[in-house]
Amino acid sequence: MTDDVVVVGAGPVGLFLACELALAGVRPVVLDRLPGRSGEQKANGLVGQVLRLLDHRGLHQPLSGTPGMPQPVPRFVFGAFPLELHRLDANPLHAVPVPQHRIEEVLEGRARELGVTVRRDHDVTGFTQDPAGVTVDLHGPDGPGQLRARYLVGADGGRSTVRKLAGIGFPGVTSPDPVSRIAHVLPPEGIRVTDGGEFLLPGCPTLFRPYTHTRTDHGVFVISPFSPDDVMVVTLEWGGPPVDERTPLTLDELRASIRRVTGADLALSPARTPGPYTPRRTVGHNTRLAERYRDGRVLLVGDAAHVHAATGGPGLNLGLQDAANLGWKLAAELQGWAPPGLLDSYQRERRPVGERVFMHSQAQIALMSPGPAVTALRALVGELLAHDDNLARIAALMAGSDVRYDTGCPHPLAGGFAPELTLGNTRLAELTRSGRPLLLDLTGGALGLADRATPWKDRLDVVTAHAAEAPAGALLLRPDGYVAWACAAGDTDPHGLDRALRDWFGEPRG
Ligand SMILES: Cc1cc2nc3c(=O)[nH]c(=O)nc-3n(C[C@H](O)[C@H](O)[C@H](O)COP(=O)(O)OP(=O)(O)OC[C@H]3O[C@@H](n4cnc5c(N)ncnc54)[C@H](O)[C@@H]3O)c2cc1C
Repeated sequence: MTDDVVVVGAGPVGLFLACELALAGVRPVVLDRLPGRSGEQKANGLVGQVLRLLDHRGLHQPLSGTPGMPQPVPRFVFGAFPLELHRLDANPLHAVPVPQHRIEEVLEGRARELGVTVRRDHDVTGFTQDPAGVTVDLHGPDGPGQLRARYLVGADGGRSTVRKLAGIGFPGVTSPDPVSRIAHVLPPEGIRVTDGGEFLLPGCPTLFRPYTHTRTDHGVFVISPFSPDDVMVVTLEWGGPPVDERTPLTLDELRASIRRVTGADLALSPARTPGPYTPRRTVGHNTRLAERYRDGRVLLVGDAAHVHAATGGPGLNLGLQDAANLGWKLAAELQGWAPPGLLDSYQRERRPVGERVFMHSQAQIALMSPGPAVTALRALVGELLAHDDNLARIAALMAGSDVRYDTGCPHPLAGGFAPELTLGNTRLAELTRSGRPLLLDLTGGALGLADRATPWKDRLDVVTAHAAEAPAGALLLRPDGYVAWACAAGDTDPHGLDRALRDWFGEPRG
């Protein structure tokens, strides 16, 4: 039997891609070499425009635990600079604290609801591709085996087997610094909280704002009080004592690191968390981007396509939006209505977004590193961030809300993520749960666009409404939430809709 798509990796990106494919009517099989979900200490939160995408799929509420639309955060951090985002009139940066194991639990639950098969304890060891499909070699609980699929997607993380077997280069930089140490502990004794909510450590004059990287003369320290029994402490050190990477991080090693970075001696004991978490040490950082995201019938998404420092949490904003971009295009290819070049537009659109994260994650590491030259650079950047237009620019960079794909439509909304809209009592995000392309006529039908879109009705939804203070007369949305085409509110003879429908959603069926 030939499956439509084999997705290698049941991390967040592989699971979300499987959801997107299943929504589009394709049946993927997800394989993961681990027997169960990983307890590795990874993401602590979702940051950026990905929260609006997840809202478009009804996943914001289960992940954030709060109803309604994602809310911008009043403060964030960039390269150990506090970003006072509450100053901005239009703040684009959303964030939700949620640990990676919970993200995976929610996405796996959704995937299974949608009928996706997730097979654990299946290690993918090889593949060969031919013009009709891909034969995947694996090692499962019953020994070696094979699967046949029309496409193979590597969502198998930074050390991706699929990327290596496909011979796709992974150029970039590997740096021995900083050494990062993370653990969840009980609130250490001797720490005080000021009236302003900052943390004071014994013997250290620096004020540490919670959840925020703070640079000292000897490194970076972060303290994040997630609950009364769970405080996450993190150090980053440059040029510290040699590390034996074969030994796991102990709380004594972290205590010594905190002493070196802050001067404070804190007795540490493990948190009583719902976990699972293990203390984690990472030596240096890798910033690498796959040369290609596609090789014939093999594609890469998420960390398999890009790795970078975790500062500011850009990983899942990038990876989950890769999955949304790829999912509908691959489904269109499999269902036979993809216009020429649609699948290749995945790399054309997403690799430059990876390059932006490549740039800003390295810039942040540089801004946090020690030394007088960096201190001088920070004084300059601090002056720039005092101006709201620069602050807004950094916020958009972190959010990924400055991403504009070339859709060929000149309207200012085209190529960007759909704006927040409320149509009567319904938010736009509630109309996009099915993951189908959507034509929104916001003139109440005056333009007659629904008739023009009728030939595509097998793959396109049309909603006609009046939106208060609509930013456009009509919007054509792709399943990943991006605007393929728009026309102005007062435009009585809008051009380009037929062309956009053909360019993105193929020829209508006869
Ligand atoms: C310390 C740390 C903190 C982070 N903090 C944040 C944060 O706050 N916010 C954020 O957005 N991001 C954060 N990140 C980044 C984020 O964790 C990653 O971007 C994310 O895990 C990428 O998901 P993925 O699904 O692409 O890959 P992964 O999560 O790596 O999943 C890959 C899966 O593939 C499986 N696999 C690998 N090889 C094979 C094979 N041959 N056969 C079968 N299965 C295989 C693995 O078992 C794994 O389950 C952090 C990362 C780290 C390390």
